[in-house]
Amino acid sequence: MAALKTYVGRYAPSPTGHLHLGHARTFWIAQQRARAAGGTMLLRNDDLDAIRFRLDFVAAMIEDLHWLGFTWQEPMRAQSTRRDLYRAALQRLHEANLIYPCTRSRRDVFEAAGAPHEGGADDEPVYPPQFRPPLAAPLPPLESEVRVNWRLRVPDGATLEFVDAAAGPQRAVVGRDFGDFLVWRKDDTPSYQLACAVDDAEMGITEVVRGADLIRSTFRQLLVLTSLGQPAPAYYHAPLLNDEHGVRLAKRHDALSLRTLRERGVNPESILRQFATEFPELG
Ligand code: GLU
Repeated sequence: MAALKTYVGRYAPSPTGHLHLGHARTFWIAQQRARAAGGTMLLRNDDLDAIRFRLDFVAAMIEDLHWLGFTWQEPMRAQSTRRDLYRAALQRLHEANLIYPCTRSRRDVFEAAGAPHEGGADDEPVYPPQFRPPLAAPLPPLESEVRVNWRLRVPDGATLEFVDAAAGPQRAVVGRDFGDFLVWRKDDTPSYQLACAVDDAEMGITEVVRGADLIRSTFRQLLVLTSLGQPAPAYYHAPLLNDEHGVRLAKRHDALSLRTLRERGVNPESILRQFATEFPELG
């Protein structure tokens, strides 16, 4: 019998604002799942967005997570220090002729593709197949004076499936639900899809717990993992938390940021108890 892999989970916040109650809830779920499995948690700082990233948000995020009593195996991993890994993955995709340079602007794509599907925060229009170079076209080298975006050529018509531990069976048709997506940006940074897939594989993550708005991204990441010959983790996409008006919490919801709750004297234990009441199966 094959030995069961020890559970390794992760929290992967982006330091582009203050964490709110929705993050706390997702991280609590991740923690409970790791505990129940006798596993460990890692903390990954998703700091690749150089424009929105702020160092004080990193400090705040660590402070807020500690306030809630969350722990992880040190050290925290920062995506900005892991560029070589992402670049090596890009190189492999390039060697396998699975990516191509894309010079189309966002506007070109939006105009040709029409409105994006309803799917969540990570949605983008399906990349128009007519913009894709023929498979046999010679692939320019990765290193070049002229910086371009690189996209993964997705297998149109393929059906991807996974069973989500929270949301149940999930299915997407490639080319219909999403198209060729960015793996490397012309500002010379990896895309979230590439970095996340590479990290989950390299860190040996066995289960990814995150918000349900990322389900469509999961299909993209599954394609990256398959293209790199890496096994996929299991997934648990937590239902999203809405405010009292039914609007999904975002980093601009300062009233429900963990900072504000702390400043108002809210007891962290009471927050965790509320999660345990909402998810008795995890408590
Ligand atoms: N850093 C991403 C976010 O805060 C989450 C990425 C993930 O869990 O895969 O939305």
